Amino acid sequence: MMARSGSLKRGKIAIIGAGWAGLAAAVELAGKADVTLFEASRVAGGRARGVADKGFSFLDNGQHLLIGAYRHVFELLDKIGVNHHEIFLRQPMQWHLHDGVQFRARRLLPAPFHLLTAILQAKGARLPEKLRLLHQITALTLWHKKQHLPDVSVAQWLEKQHVSQKWQAQFWQPLVWGALNTPMQSASLRVLANVLADGIWHSRENSNYCLPKVDLGAVLANPALSYVQARGVRYLPEHRVQKMVYQNQQLALFGETFDRAIVAVAPYHLLNVLPENWLTPSFQAAISQIKYHAITTVYLRYNRPVALPAAITGFADGTTQWLIDRSQINGANEIAAVISVSDQHGALSPEQWVQRVQADLQRILPDLPAPIAVQTITEKRATIAADVQRPIPNPREFAQYGVLLAGDYFSARYPATLETAVQSGMNAARQILKTLA
Ligand SMILES: Cc1cc2nc3c(=O)[nH]c(=O)nc-3n(C[C@H](O)[C@H](O)[C@H](O)COP(=O)(O)OP(=O)(O)OC[C@H]3O[C@@H](n4cnc5c(N)ncnc54)[C@H](O)[C@@H]3O)c2cc1C
Repeated sequence: MMARSGSLKRGKIAIIGAGWAGLAAAVELAGKADVTLFEASRVAGGRARGVADKGFSFLDNGQHLLIGAYRHVFELLDKIGVNHHEIFLRQPMQWHLHDGVQFRARRLLPAPFHLLTAILQAKGARLPEKLRLLHQITALTLWHKKQHLPDVSVAQWLEKQHVSQKWQAQFWQPLVWGALNTPMQSASLRVLANVLADGIWHSRENSNYCLPKVDLGAVLANPALSYVQARGVRYLPEHRVQKMVYQNQQLALFGETFDRAIVAVAPYHLLNVLPENWLTPSFQAAISQIKYHAITTVYLRYNRPVALPAAITGFADGTTQWLIDRSQINGANEIAAVISVSDQHGALSPEQWVQRVQADLQRILPDLPAPIAVQTITEKRATIAADVQRPIPNPREFAQYGVLLAGDYFSARYPATLETAVQSGMNAARQILKTLA
């Protein structure tokens, strides 16, 4: 229960931020409270949004990949009537490095045999290497159960396991970059173990890859806004909330008063919204210690089909980590190239990113012509570093003022993702619903 006493009759609730956390909260509260959703930008979706297409079949602010384990995301999509079997290309977990190991989970086998057989049948590895990889994954799943052990960085653990350079480069590093968007030297082994145990190792369904066939606005923001507006939610885009004012047990925003608020902005925007006199030193310290990493996505369009060997093809030794082949997703002659932790490459211009990605692509397709359209998008604070001892602020820190926090950064168990954003938005809304009469 929230600390502030008294239950509300159809309370007046402000949600600040229409990213995936704020949208999830709005859907949960729609029809059950008097809700206003404030969004600073023109478009909803936050760090997972569609952008104007400039000749592409669709564009986002960055390529996103979901996995079957995103239970709260699929629950949300079900609720707002989005058929996620249609809007995602769902494929069994696969690992296809152009310059390295390749395997693909078996469709018909139950977990963990779907993965065991995949690794045993992997291309580009000798049997002893496959057995060692299986041993390491098993050791990590066993370590995961020992919650009392102190967390260490993935790099420290790999060193202790005597993992070779080849396997660091061909499996662990791309895995940690992709799943945690964090360098191995600082990435939390515990978070990685949680992702493996609850994701690819848990069940065949959880380990599926889900690639959007449409832009992220069409996946969530647009249908969620239609759903909530049809249920009386007032949506106010281009409304950047400045410091909230708290008076007489009410919150004032844009000259209007509210009983409760959910603040669903990224941590780097929190201090613009929260009054200074609310902030404790420990909360400020937690927020200031959060680290971010960039993700760069280069979109390329060609005048002829570009067929890559797998829908997701990676490199152990390239600038590009993963190439997403849209011809296998929506039939377009387009590639989305993903560079996680792209801040480690220094400040490259959009043209330099394109040149590097095109050079990587030509390693697979030497006759590839120059692209006819390109778009490079770098999100400097794409995700929160999943470091060892990452600070997790308390989302109920300001419950005494009727304010709950939501966002991707509140999960100690998982990296900051769409799933943790949605889960946290739902949690905040459910807390508030408990206080409604
Ligand atoms: C390039 C890229 C690739 C990614 N890839 C993946 C992936 O493959 N899989 C995955 O699961 N996750 C991925 N992520 C992470 C995922 O996008 C985020 O975890 C998620 O979108 C965060 O949602 P959120 O609602 O917590 O925060 P945000 O998306 O940051 O939403 C906050 C919202 O609040 C608004 N706002 C801020 N201040 C104010 C204010 N004062 N008043 C009103 N509104 C305000 C912002 O405009 C924004 O819309 C990726 C992120 C990026 C950028």
